[in-house]
Order: sequence, then C-alpha cells, then structure tokens
Amino acid sequence: MRYDYLVIGAGASGMTSALVLAKHGYRVALVEKYPSIGPLLNSFIRGGLRFDTGFHYSGDFGKGQVLDRFFRYLGLFDSVSTVPYNASGYDVFRCRKPEFEFRFPFGYAALREKLLATFPGERKAIDTYLQVVAKIKVDTDDSILVFAPPRDYLQGYDSVSLKAFLDSLTGNSLLKALLSSHCVLYGVAPEHVPLSLHAQVVGSYYLSAHGIAGGGESLVAAFKRRLQEAGVEILCGRGVREILAGPAGGLEGVRLEDGEVLECRGCISTVHPRTLLQLVPQGLFRSVYRKRLTGLKESASGLILYAESDTPLELLNGANLYLSEGPEAFFTPMEGPWWRRPLFVSAARRVLSDNPPYGFFSICLTAPEFCEEGSSGQSWHGSENYREAKERAARMLQDQIEKLCPELRDRVIYRELSTPQTLKRYTHSPSGSLYGVAHWVGQSNPSTITRIPGLFLAGQAIAGPGLLGVMISAFHACANVIGHEQLKKDVMRCN
Ligand SMILES: Cc1cc2nc3c(=O)[nH]c(=O)nc-3n(C[C@H](O)[C@H](O)[C@H](O)COP(=O)(O)OP(=O)(O)OC[C@H]3O[C@@H](n4cnc5c(N)ncnc54)[C@H](O)[C@@H]3O)c2cc1C
Repeated sequence: MRYDYLVIGAGASGMTSALVLAKHGYRVALVEKYPSIGPLLNSFIRGGLRFDTGFHYSGDFGKGQVLDRFFRYLGLFDSVSTVPYNASGYDVFRCRKPEFEFRFPFGYAALREKLLATFPGERKAIDTYLQVVAKIKVDTDDSILVFAPPRDYLQGYDSVSLKAFLDSLTGNSLLKALLSSHCVLYGVAPEHVPLSLHAQVVGSYYLSAHGIAGGGESLVAAFKRRLQEAGVEILCGRGVREILAGPAGGLEGVRLEDGEVLECRGCISTVHPRTLLQLVPQGLFRSVYRKRLTGLKESASGLILYAESDTPLELLNGANLYLSEGPEAFFTPMEGPWWRRPLFVSAARRVLSDNPPYGFFSICLTAPEFCEEGSSGQSWHGSENYREAKERAARMLQDQIEKLCPELRDRVIYRELSTPQTLKRYTHSPSGSLYGVAHWVGQSNPSTITRIPGLFLAGQAIAGPGLLGVMISAFHACANVIGHEQLKKDVMRCN
C-alpha cells in the first residue's frame, strides 16, 4: 500500500491533518481539487493592491494559547510570524443612530474597565457576561489541549443562544449590539448561535488579536515547506470522486476524478459534509446519519467589496471596523435590505510601494442564494446580468460604507466584488457560505469519528469556523489515529 493515510482537501484543516500524521511517521498524501493548496487562504492583486481572502486576523496566538501551541508543534513559526493588532483598539464598533464608538482593547480586565466606563449602570450584566465567556473559553481550551471531551456543563451552553443569554442580562440595546457584533466572524445571527461557540470565538479575541506577516499566503507557503520536509505527497488539481470500502465496510482507498485509485488504510476528509455524502457510496453511512448531514444549516454567505481609498486609512491601521446604522442591525445581521446590514471593514496589504493607493475590503452578510440565478432559473454566473448585478451591488455597498464611515466619504474606488457564487467557485463549498456548516442552537454537528472504520472528519463543521476552529478539528481527528495521550504529550511539550 502506497499510503497509510489520505487527507481530502488542502485547506487549513487538511494541511494541518496531513502534517500531524506525517510528523508521526505515517505515509500521507494530501489531495486537493483546486490547482494549488490552501485556495481559501490565498490572495489576489487588483490595482497594485494585494487583497487577502480567507484569513485576516485571529485570536489565540498569545503565548501558550491553542493556536500558539499548534503552530509551535507544527514548526510553522520557523517560517511565519504573527503581527499584533492595536492593543488599545483592535476592533472598532461604530453606529450612527445613536452616534457611538467603542474600541475593543486586548485583555479581559481592560475590556471590563472600558465597558464599565461606557455603560456605568450595567456592572452586573458586564461582569456576568465576561465571567461566563471567560470560563467557557478556559474550560474549552483545557479539553482541547488535553484531547478530552468537553466538560459536561459546557454542553448546556450549546443549547443557549447568545441572544437569549444577553436578553437575560440586560435591556440595553447598545451593549447587546456591541457584544453581538462579532457574529460576522462565524456567520450566524445572535438568535441562533450557541453561547458556547460565541465564547470560543470571541473569548480568544478578547485576549489578543494577531494577523500573520505576509497574510494567508505566507501561512500556505509555511505549510507547504513543512509538508514537503515531512514527506507528504501533495496532489493538486485532483479531486476525489469516491471513497472506496472493502466488503466488511472498512476504508480501502479513494478513486480520483481522473479515475486513478489511491489505496490507503485511512482517510481524513475535510470537505463540506454534503460533498462527503457524494463521495461515500450508498449503504456505508446509516440513512439517519445521511439525513443529519444533509440537514445541517449553513453559515451566512457574503458580498465582499474590495476597494481602495486615495488617503491613508489610519483608522484601519491594526484595527477592523464593525459599522452599522443603528444597534438593532447587529441583532438580525442577515435580515432586511442587505445594503442596510452591518459591515465589517478591514485593511488590504500594499504591495507595490509605500505610497497610495490604500486598500480595504468590506463584508456584508447575505443568504447563500444571493444573486444565484437569473430570472430564467439558470445559473447566471459570468453572464452580463451577473456582471451588472455585481456592479450595482458594489455601488450600493460603496455608498453605505461612505455613509457609515465619514473618513471614507468620496474616497472609495471600487476594485472588485465577490459574491456567494465567487465563494462557491473558489472554496468548492456547495452553498458558497463564508464558514461552511454553521454551529446553531439545537443542531448536532458531526464529530471527528464516523462509522466507517478508518474514515475521520475535520473542518469547519466539526469544532468551529476560522483558523482556530479548523485546526482544533484537525488535531482531534488525528488524535483518533495517533492516540489522544500521545498527541497531548507532544503538543503540551511545545512551549
Ligand atoms: C472571506 C473570508 C474571510 C475569512 N477571514 C478569516 C479570518 O480573518 N480569520 C480566520 O480565522 N478565519 C477566516 N475565515 C475562515 C477560514 O478561512 C476558514 O474557516 C478556513 O480556511 C477553512 O478551512 P478548511 O480546511 O476547513 O476548509 P477549506 O479551506 O474550504 O478546505 C477544504 C478544501 O477541500 C477541497 N475540496 C473540495 N472538494 C474536494 C474533493 N472532492 N476532492 C479534493 N478536494 C476537495 C476544496 O477545494 C478546499 O480547498 C474567512 C473565510 C472567508 C470566506
């Protein structure tokens, strides 16, 4: 047999899985449908500006935190370094009516102090919120790093929505909107996101926020180097068509789209669960499991405007903007006319010189169906109608940004717009959602283990979205192969 393990999909979760297994001596192949690895983490250039796509910033890079340990263990810090955002205001929340601005600082103590100064009558709500979020985050991290199941009490927070929790603490709309604003980072409205997932995501940013020097593509380059050093065979532009099982149901290999069969004794699939169902022959999964995977809810999709300004964007220097007309927009970020929804704005990278232009991009959450079909019901991607719709949408987004951010008034130059169709094409995600399968109150997301011996799952559907969520899922999928105790010892040794 040529390989011990095949990893399907070379996004962040696939690259992590392949590297962890190879570090433990397994012969591994990483199979990716796209022509290169890490397609979602790459960048593109427009008008002399380099725009990152699927990675801008993350929490959890502080010393000893989960991503810091994972990066050390994988040897990624040999080739990449993290860059801290502005410690006194890495995320800037703004709304127009009432006129209000809040800058999130690093650290729970600083955040508490600032919240209390801004909302002096809300001490109890603020303290309870921060204590609960911090406790969920600390206990979740503990179980992640010791490769143990989450503590029982944490499951209780899977069935409480962020909205229900905030409503139980306060009636202050502005405070609730502020604490809900990060929903753009997981693409689920406060009404539906489990408090546990919210705490895992924002709990990491409340400690610190970092970018990666050189952006997502330098992370991909670092992965590539380590994968090659570890002897992983990288097969790009070669999608998996079918997972092959023997008569007893055990995994035996995969068939690629070009017909070649690759034998292996195990597989980690990082593709979207609905894509996985197309790869697994009927009868191998129970029908109830198929139904469960088919019914998983999707995270929001988005329109992403890539643009530039003819003046320096000091505001976006080490910080992101969360903008909205009024606080209510953050309670239902995917409802109402899309051009009135909250906007996330972040800086692009300059590539050609130290002079202008200055680039940025802005995400507005939409349903995945946004501009999916023309009136004929046919896909209109690439058609004249689609281009017109894109240009119209870009103009409307541009107007809204200029309205909500006076510093950019009459200064925005449109460069590109990405739609759910674009995301579908570049991520091979069936619905074009931003973060794949959602984490949703009352929904039971799949675990890393399947009933097919040798087939494990990783990716956004499992532990959470973002670099943090998918790397957690990859390490935990690999722990099933390597042994939980062994991997725990190895990861904890990396200080
Ligand atoms: C616009 C945007 C901005 C984001 N910003 C951030 C951010 O700032 N910070 C952050 O932490 N996260 C961010 N994210 C989320 C982050 O990019 C993702 O959570 C993460 O990259 C997902 O990694 P993955 O490996 O699970 O999935 P993917 O990267 O989607 O990997 C799955 C891979 O499987 C491949 N594939 C599909 N079908 C097949 C097949 N049949 N055979 C072989 N291969 C196949 C796909 O081509 C794909 O490469 C952002 C996402 C988006 C869309």
